[in-house]
Amino acid sequence: MNKAILIAKKVKSGELKAADIIKEYLERIKEKDEKINAFLEVFTDSALKKAAEIDLKIKQGKPVGKLAGVPVAIKDNMLYKNHKMSCASKILEHYVSPYSATVVEKLLNEDAVIIGRTNMDEFAMGSSTENSSFKNTKNPLNENYVPGGSSGGSAAAVAADMALISLGSDTGGSIRQPAAFCGVYGLKPTYGSVSRYGLAAFASSLDQIGCFTNNPEDMELVFSVISGHDKRDSTSSRLRQTKKEFDIKTVKIGIPKEHFMDGLKPEIKKEFLSTVQTLKNLGANIINISLPNARYALPAYYIISSSEASANLGRYDGMRYGLNSKNADSLASSYKLTRGEGFGPEVKRRIMLGTYSLSAGYYDAYYIKAQKIRTLIKKDFKKAFKEVDIILTPTTPTNAFKFGEKSKDPISMYLSDIFTIPANLAGVCAVSAPSKNTDENGLSAGMQFISNHFNENALFPLMGLLNND
Ligand code: GLN
Repeated sequence: MNKAILIAKKVKSGELKAADIIKEYLERIKEKDEKINAFLEVFTDSALKKAAEIDLKIKQGKPVGKLAGVPVAIKDNMLYKNHKMSCASKILEHYVSPYSATVVEKLLNEDAVIIGRTNMDEFAMGSSTENSSFKNTKNPLNENYVPGGSSGGSAAAVAADMALISLGSDTGGSIRQPAAFCGVYGLKPTYGSVSRYGLAAFASSLDQIGCFTNNPEDMELVFSVISGHDKRDSTSSRLRQTKKEFDIKTVKIGIPKEHFMDGLKPEIKKEFLSTVQTLKNLGANIINISLPNARYALPAYYIISSSEASANLGRYDGMRYGLNSKNADSLASSYKLTRGEGFGPEVKRRIMLGTYSLSAGYYDAYYIKAQKIRTLIKKDFKKAFKEVDIILTPTTPTNAFKFGEKSKDPISMYLSDIFTIPANLAGVCAVSAPSKNTDENGLSAGMQFISNHFNENALFPLMGLLNND
């Protein structure tokens, strides 16, 4: 598949025209997306306009950015000025962004072309994109299967080559899990390394914007563009990336024993063990480690994320943003009807769970307890990273599942993120890289590499090495 890094070089040198690339991608979307449904909206006019501007700059001998002419899809929870952003929710169906998210601005400054907004689970709550209020996205590897979620549309867009790069958000696994399901690369950066300004909030202490690409080199490039301090996001960090010379023979890779659990699909285990073997052959030191509190991560995550969601989503009151129910005849009925009609069942479930956990009498038993677990998990990672540089786990316990298979059973759906959630709770960075082999249904498995805060630079070369092997 094409590499964004090479396409941008060719556009810069005048070998390729941005307009031609964008037309090719728009054509491909037309051809494929009727079936895949990765996009909620394709920004044909603004994409062609941006491409023409880039070509003009080149013609006039003016400098162009690092992503010149590269088609990028964005998840439908990021603002792009004068374009719609709905969070795949009826409550924001007609909402138009008044400004652009920092990440979108940064991409545009490097002359990327935003080609459309992608489908997702409503407000990023889910693991299959089946919670979208608008449509189901199919997995391009096998259309009978879900693409994962919540950034399923962004993963599918890159997997089907309808965009070279896409952005997603990851609160508990929503980039890494769909990357694993669709066979692409997915990065969840360190919390605070990429600005959340202009990202619709789900759980603010966990949300992080990251990207999908089809190779590690593009991932490194996108990360270099979207990361950095932003004074408009108070949780954005000024800390810089740690830069280390990479030599696989000095890299210590930890394998947590807790991840060989019941429910780990044999195909995934096989791919995982073969990755470990490849790394050993390349000269890496493999060390057995323990993350003893990882097993409490899932319940702690659902308490914390739902509590934050219940507070964050309070802003959708029918007055300030989006939908305002026409059937209301009083203030109280306006709140009730707007939210009743506007939010889907999963969002309502999370708001209720969160409101309950934060209520007087239950706060200590649930919310505070969950925060204590979060601290223990952070300590587990801190200890582990004294011993090793990188932690390797499967991204998910199973590969993609069929439509409807888990949507009636929230707990089994929640379990999809059992391996990804600890990194969000600790705020460390993690990627999912696709396995070499696919199973008999054509589905891939994802390998998750986790590293310490602001140590993304250790992950890119490692993946590059595995990719070239
Ligand atoms: N699947 C998880 C959830 O439903 C994670 C979502 C996410 O990372 N946005 O909360």
